[in-house]
Parts: sequence; structure tokens; C-alpha cells
Amino acid sequence: MPVTENMILDALRAVRDPERDGDIVSLGMVTGVVIRDGNVGFAIEVEPERGARLEPLRKAAERAVEALPDVMSVTAVLTAEAKPPGGARRAAPAAAPAQAAPAAGKSAIAPGVRAIVAVASGKGGVGKSTVAANLALGLKANGLRVGVLDADIYGPSMPRMLGITGKPQMADAKILRPMENYGLKCMSIGFLVPEDTPMIWRGPMVMSALQQMLRDVAWGELDIMVVDMPPGTGDAQLTMAQQVSLAGAVIVSTPQDIALIDARKGLNMFTKVNVPVLGIIENMSYFLCPHCGERSDIFSHGGARREAERLGVDFLGEVPLDLAIRETSDEGRPITVSQPDSPYAQTFRDIAAKVWEKVSGESTARRAPPRIVVE
Ligand code: ADP
Repeated sequence: MPVTENMILDALRAVRDPERDGDIVSLGMVTGVVIRDGNVGFAIEVEPERGARLEPLRKAAERAVEALPDVMSVTAVLTAEAKPPGGARRAAPAAAPAQAAPAAGKSAIAPGVRAIVAVASGKGGVGKSTVAANLALGLKANGLRVGVLDADIYGPSMPRMLGITGKPQMADAKILRPMENYGLKCMSIGFLVPEDTPMIWRGPMVMSALQQMLRDVAWGELDIMVVDMPPGTGDAQLTMAQQVSLAGAVIVSTPQDIALIDARKGLNMFTKVNVPVLGIIENMSYFLCPHCGERSDIFSHGGARREAERLGVDFLGEVPLDLAIRETSDEGRPITVSQPDSPYAQTFRDIAAKVWEKVSGESTARRAPPRIVVE
């Protein structure tokens, strides 16, 4: 029999708040129970000052639900509503104290990772995930150790784009082993919840889930982690940009959307939290007819380059609208890995080289494996 919300709440009634008189359900601390095919998620709301010391409570809650029959996985997150000095309430994660994001360098919650780079867009559907997957593969092709964190928890697409199925295994009692394909390490909420499941997340839950995907995953030593951000520039993105010690952000935009204000909003968001914007990538930049080879600028090509110049941000490259890009990424074998000799793969390797140079100050030329030329 599939597990129900009532069964979960009953199990959680056995978990007592060690500092208050009662169990976490009766005290109204459990919220946002989500059940998908036996995968269970919920939040435990606590006061911000108690967040750090209530980790054992979170674990006990997970164990209580894990013990139920037909439960495949359990993710409990601690969340809190923090009151900033100004008075207005604003969502904030409980477990991790807010800290200023260093412009570059290692993140406190993923210490083996040299640089974390966000791929963001002002709105959905501009090809952000496609670019993130190909950028990661371009970095890998340039000889770097690369991880991909799918932070697009509203619509995780990395499992599909990177052709990864199955569930992550535990490396030890509390650490998950990341999934792997094409030499990339990857973690996504999509491994725990089916891709087409609509998910409703409250701001604090988003941050806790992301922190767990960074902190409780055996990423090992990585040169760079590519983070596929949720689309848009809301609170979740802002908090994430603030808390994850991003080395920089890349904005993906279509030519017509940069002319609107979406991508500029993305830029402003990162600037506000002192995360350097590494540059703009124009996706679906122009259309090259596969039959006659004629090029059409269906989306007024060049908008992003002009806008980048105007805003004083680097233009990292343009990726055309091409059926091959769509088909390969939707089939789980992105063009950078499935057609490495194509000009598009080269475009992504070039963009990757620029991104790495900007965050590390190093060129990847000496790392890339030698290319064998047959004459
Ligand atoms: P987002 O992450 O911004 O929502 P996706 O990366 O999921 O966007 O892309 C949306 C759709 O557009 C996908 O079907 C993807 O394959 C397709 N797509 C993205 N970039 C291109 C491109 N350059 N040429 C053709 N199709 C593309």
C-alpha cells in the first residue's frame, strides 16, 4: 500500500522536540509533506537560533519515516523564518548562518570544490539547462574535474539531459554518492522525484534542499561545479546567490529577451549580492537551415552582444537554434559529448575556456588532452 501523508505524520509523532514539551507534529513544526512514488520530503520549521543544534532532530525524523513500509527515500529539511533587523519577515535557512559570499574560492559547504559557477536566466525556456549541460561538458573536455548541481528544483532536467537514470546510493550513513555520466558528477532533486511532478516549494525549503545537495553529497575534489539555477530572479535565486559562495554567474538569454528586461534583472540580482557576472551567452542566436545552409536571424540576432557591451559585461558566445542541439540534449547526449567535432561543441568548449579563465585566472589550454589530427 502506498505511503500516505497521515502515515508519515503518525510516524513523526514519535519524534519529540528535545527542547520543548511535545512531538514535532503536535507542536505544528512539520510542513510541506510531499510524497512521490515512495519518495518523501517534508520541512521541520524551527526558530533560526535553534537550527544549527537541531540536526539530530532532523535525522531522527528521517529515520522515523524511513522505517515505514514502501518508503524509498526521505528528505527532511530544517527551515526557519528569520526576522531581519528592519522588521519585515524574510525566509532564511535555519541550519547555515548567513555569510558574505566570497567573490571566488572554496565554498564552506562544498570544501573540495574550487569554484562554483551559476548558470542563470531571467525566465524559463531560454535554454539555460541545455547551456549548463553543454558548458559542463565543455569544461570537462578542456581537462577539468566537473560537477553539475541541478538547482532548478521546480523543473529538474539534468537527469534527462545528461542521460542519467536511477537513484543515488549512500556513500556512508549520511552522505549520498553523486550520480555520474560522461565523466561529470551530478546531483539533482530529479533523481528523487520524477521530472514531470509539479513541485511546490517554499523559499526556505529551497535553500535547505540545495544546501543538502551541496553538503551531504560526496562531491570529492572538483575544479568547478556548474549550478543550473531555477529560472527567474526571485527570492530563492537571491538567497542561493548569497549563500553558496558563487565564484561567478553566467546569464543565458535569447536575443529577443535581452532586449526586454528579463536578463537585465538577472544581472542586477547578482550584482546586488556581489557575485561577479562572468558574462552573457546568447542562445537560439540565429537559425542555420539544415537544408539550404541559409542563416536566418529569427530572433533579431546580436541583441545579447549589444546589450552586454552596453552593460559593460563580457559576451561569452552565441549558440544557434539548431534541431541537433535540441534533439541531443532532450535525448540525454548533449552535442558537446555526442558530436565533439561539430562547430557547436567547439563553441561550448570555447565558452567553457573563457568561464574557467575568468574564475581561476588559468588557461585550460595546457589541461586539454591533445587533439589528434589525422592528415
Ligand atoms: P530552460 O532551462 O531555460 O528552461 P531548456 O534548456 O530546458 O530551457 O530548453 C528548452 C527547450 O529548448 C529544450 O527542448 C531544449 O532542447 C531546447 N533548446 C535549448 N537550446 C536550444 C538551441 N540552441 N537550439 C535548439 N533547441 C534548443
